Amino acid sequence: MDAAACRLHAEPMTEEDFQATRITVRLGAIAANYRTYRRMVGPASVAAVVKADAYGLGAARIAPMLAGVGCDSFFVARLEEGIRLRKLLPDARIFVLDGAQPDAVPALLTHRLTPALNSLAEIAAWSAAAGATRTSLDAVLHVDTGINRLGLPGDELAILSGEARVRLAGLNIVLVMSHLACGDDAASKMNAEQLSRFQQALAMLPAAPASLAASHGAMLGPEYHFDLVRPGIGLYGANPQANGQNLMQATFALTGKLLQLRRIDSGASVGYAATFRAKRPTMLATVALGYADGIPRTASNQGFAAIHGVRAPITGRVSMDVLVLDVTDMAEPPRVGDDVELIGDTVTLRDAAKAAGTNEYEILTRLGHRLPRVYVEGASA
Ligand SMILES: *Cc1c(COP(=O)(O)O)cnc(C)c1O
Repeated sequence: MDAAACRLHAEPMTEEDFQATRITVRLGAIAANYRTYRRMVGPASVAAVVKADAYGLGAARIAPMLAGVGCDSFFVARLEEGIRLRKLLPDARIFVLDGAQPDAVPALLTHRLTPALNSLAEIAAWSAAAGATRTSLDAVLHVDTGINRLGLPGDELAILSGEARVRLAGLNIVLVMSHLACGDDAASKMNAEQLSRFQQALAMLPAAPASLAASHGAMLGPEYHFDLVRPGIGLYGANPQANGQNLMQATFALTGKLLQLRRIDSGASVGYAATFRAKRPTMLATVALGYADGIPRTASNQGFAAIHGVRAPITGRVSMDVLVLDVTDMAEPPRVGDDVELIGDTVTLRDAAKAAGTNEYEILTRLGHRLPRVYVEGASA
């Protein structure tokens, strides 16, 4: 057997051997986006939101890299995410947005995780833990200012304000935070309303550093910055502004292999349920990406991909493992084996989200598990 044949029977292929259908994550671009936030909001500091495995791009690589460029505070949603992150970041502040449910308290203590306390009950549980361990415990107070999702509601805030000394016994409040409902819509009246409620809440509580803005809120102006901003999606390259040029660099490329080309006659159909019917002789390219990789089925007959920087429409249904492009109009015909960009520099994350009728968050966090994440140091692929 020659060497190549030998390899067919050897170890499973690694990412280095075989990088066909993949997500290429540009660590340098994420670092650049982090620095852009710092420049925009200084002297406020910038935490990184790395929940949902850094929005699907891989917290295990991204969080240590961000710590290396000076980020000392990280937000996760779940306790389990915090536990995993603590193993990677022994010294960072790790905030858990899910809070301090009673059954979470022992693990929060063990792994030195700081809960964002969402209710008087959670404050009581965390304060009790401080008493039981005879220590002072760091805590975040999350106050609700109108999103009505997580955080102390107004009546609980009023009670806390009146009895702060007792209820916060043993707690070191390192942050008071709230979250905007319409931060991505600069024209929404709700932003100023929530800002005002947040300022009132701060006045009712013991003095502590404050945080209101996430990726989009940071763009609303300096009065939204307080002491800390908490971007997630902006770090990963989404445009934090509704309109205008994206200040953030694209941080990843989703690339599929071109598996097969075929010409069909006018009248022939493409894909399950024959939802596309050719109106002319049509050249089709079948690409190794499907909904199991996170390409939404709603992108069927809607979305685009790019080959050598030229766009081609998705025709027919996106299926589990493959999708089909109409490449008839490409001046330079593609070839089997070519890389096809589903999201990246030509088809932006926002383009992909729009075509599928969803937002950048859902596209990013649903990118499939079977796609290898290939990390490059630089800011381009
Ligand atoms: C997810 C989340 C963030 C980060 O939001 P982005 O829009 O991704 O910047 C910040 N704060 C809270 C409370 C969150 O849940």
